[in-house]
Amino acid sequence: MEYKKLLEETGAILHGHFLLSSGLHSDSYVQCAKIFKYPWYAEDLGYELSVKISKYGPDCVVSPAIGGIIIGYEVARHLNVPFLFAERDDDGVIKFRREFDPSNFKNIVVVEDVITTGKSTNEVIDLVEESRSRVICTSAIVNRGSIDQIRGMPVISLISLPLVSYTREECPLCKKGIPLVRPGTRKIKENMS
Ligand SMILES: [Zn+2]
Repeated sequence: MEYKKLLEETGAILHGHFLLSSGLHSDSYVQCAKIFKYPWYAEDLGYELSVKISKYGPDCVVSPAIGGIIIGYEVARHLNVPFLFAERDDDGVIKFRREFDPSNFKNIVVVEDVITTGKSTNEVIDLVEESRSRVICTSAIVNRGSIDQIRGMPVISLISLPLVSYTREECPLCKKGIPLVRPGTRKIKENMS
């Protein structure tokens, strides 16, 4: 499967002028929900990731909600292991709810849709380690950070799409006067239509 083509064809790569959560600006943004609109693609991508992950012998998949849930579930399904997700509370702190308990598992893989700085993955690793369990590798469909390790663990991905980002001062898109949008807001939908 040509993954990058799939991202383009499903509209998962948005082109424009985006304000990232880091405060930096970028000309592209990846929204995997656009691929997951087609369950067969989610299944294929989950399978492809599970093939790459299986050699680490994971016994559980953990994903951060919401972005990681669909792909994490698909990876777990192909690996035939349980799946848990962690979610942010109103204060933005990531936690396990619903009596999800990773402490019964010893070889956990963290699966996300997109990995950029690895912030969410790091938060999930902290959470798993607090429960005296262990993460053995991390994974995402798209790696935007050109990072191949997080805390000494491999980052397994299907697509490498290094993020080009700028500070506001040096941003060429600002200089051209292109409206800045925050991904996930209505503004993007307006731009897409
Ligand atoms: Zn800008």
